[in-house]
Amino acid sequence: MKINIGLEIHCQMTGLKSKLFCSCEADYRGKQPNGNICPICLGLPGTLPLLNKKALENALMLSLALNCKIPDVVSFYRKNYFYPDLPKNFQITQYNSYQISSIGSGGTVEFDHKKVRIRRIQLEEDPGRLVYESGIATSNYTLVDYNRAGVALMEIVTEPDFDDPKDVKLFLNKLVSVLEHLGTCDTKLDGAVRCDVNISQENKKKVEIKNVGSFKEVEKALVFEISRQKSFGIKGIEVKSETRHWDDIRRITIQSRTKEEEQDYRYFPEPDIPAAYLGNELINSLTKQMPELPDARKSRFVENFGLSEQNAQILIDEKDTADFFEESLKLYDDAKEISNWFVTDLKVFINEANGIRSLKIKPSHIAELVKLVNQSTISRNTAKQILQQIVKSGEMPSVVMNNLKATKISNEEALIQIVDDVFAKETIAVRDALKNEKAINFLLGKVIQSTRGRADPKLTTELIRKKIASIST
Ligand SMILES: [Zn+2]
Repeated sequence: MKINIGLEIHCQMTGLKSKLFCSCEADYRGKQPNGNICPICLGLPGTLPLLNKKALENALMLSLALNCKIPDVVSFYRKNYFYPDLPKNFQITQYNSYQISSIGSGGTVEFDHKKVRIRRIQLEEDPGRLVYESGIATSNYTLVDYNRAGVALMEIVTEPDFDDPKDVKLFLNKLVSVLEHLGTCDTKLDGAVRCDVNISQENKKKVEIKNVGSFKEVEKALVFEISRQKSFGIKGIEVKSETRHWDDIRRITIQSRTKEEEQDYRYFPEPDIPAAYLGNELINSLTKQMPELPDARKSRFVENFGLSEQNAQILIDEKDTADFFEESLKLYDDAKEISNWFVTDLKVFINEANGIRSLKIKPSHIAELVKLVNQSTISRNTAKQILQQIVKSGEMPSVVMNNLKATKISNEEALIQIVDDVFAKETIAVRDALKNEKAINFLLGKVIQSTRGRADPKLTTELIRKKIASIST
């Protein structure tokens, strides 16, 4: 069964100071309900919206980053519908029809050697928020908070080019990294990104899942919805064209309302906002200001630092991790060894903490840890133990090492004594080792175990071999 999946993604511009058309604060979180509002974002009669220039520039930069075409003139439209969270009864947005284009169109994004087409990027305002005190299903009343109304959003619409939920996840990872590098949207903030997903089987009706509240939930919602549609097919029931809602507690999609058609919105040009002429000068200057984007950064990591594609990809997937890696490198120049920690042991902690900045370690910790291993002061196993402690405590590795008395034992005399003890205890293994090379590893393991990982493995192996040789002659 061939399926087609398309996405409509809304990203708040969390880095802005003010809303899209007024001077109310863009950061509406944690404020007294309906305290962050003014006559403009409430759409009171006689008020005039004024376009936020920085928001326009942010949306243009995203359009450039996703390889979109940018029109000469940008204009706004009213999308009319009645809903309690929409104080004006229309949303100021953009429109793509009659040769009118939103801020970006016809783009492409490559990820994991695949390609998805971007239909459009548009700039629009967020509605307010409906609050159900005891959950949407059981609340007897609904509260309305307009603090969010008028916050700037970038809407990104893809063509239905996906056929696998896993690819959707990889694409969203890439998009998050692009947004982080541009600094326009902090995707980790609650409600900063929302995704509508549409799914259709070949020649079948289209189902839309509205407002999936985080990118992490999108793949789960898709997997559920595809299996629901498949089971309909098996039972011979027709899939209806409808809008559904992702219930992230019950992990199912539920029917929400019949879908409006485009004509229901009665789009018409917003008469209160003049068209904005962009011009080459603005676009050229924004192109010059563009920060390094994930693809270029990945290539630089591969070419300059000799990292594998896979390791470079893990590093650039989160901008914070890539920045942290480069900061560590400035303190101790061994890209390969440092990157190895980011893709193995440290990665586990980063995932658990939802980002490296939530951990107590700093680049100086990683630089020192790698240096101690490289200088053979501690073994790799000891370094792993130290890492477990420093991510939580923020102590320097050398301090933990001294407290643990964890320096590597590479003093020959001390090791000979330990090897002798092991030989005395493990007589059967010693007999095996005389006949079979491989049994030496068992003896090595015993020595490392008795020193809690501190014995220098290379030197210990040499000493064991010498001792075996002296016994067999
Ligand atoms: Zn306002």
